[in-house]
Amino acid sequence: MAADPNCIFCKIAAGDIPSTTVLDSPLAIAFLDVGPLADGHVLLIPRDHYERLDQMPADVFGQVAALLPKLGSALQRVAGVDAYNVLQNNGAAAGQEVGHVHFHLIPRCPGDGLGYRWNAKSYAAGRADELAARFSELLD
Ligand code: AMP
Ligand code: ZN
Repeated sequence: MAADPNCIFCKIAAGDIPSTTVLDSPLAIAFLDVGPLADGHVLLIPRDHYERLDQMPADVFGQVAALLPKLGSALQRVAGVDAYNVLQNNGAAAGQEVGHVHFHLIPRCPGDGLGYRWNAKSYAAGRADELAARFSELLD
């Protein structure tokens, strides 16, 4: 297993510091966030250390992400909600504080006061096509 000795989530995955684990599988674990945005807020992490999503091998990502449906299902029953967000931050500007890939699963209910300022913009003429062309070059 690839671990970073300075990483708090690697230490949690190794059992070297305590966490309230809710799911334990060969490639991933999930545990309660110590600073929950709502009761039942959990973090799903790969056992191996990857700082960012784009550094994960696709097959490892796939096996970790495959746990999200059943975790999301359990989360709703535990928290007594019928809504939740899956949030995954990459990079400081995106709000990532812990440099080990993690998915937040956050129970939601009406009026909970959580949420984004979703300041949607629009594209100037031609810009969307330029961006799509650039994606095509990189993803071919
Ligand atoms: P992010 O801002 O996406 O990097 O989120 C990091 C999350 O990790 C925060 O919500 C913290 O509350 C949570 N966190 C940090 N340390 C621990 C810990 N030892 N156990 C559980 N959750 C933690
Ligand atoms: Zn780590």
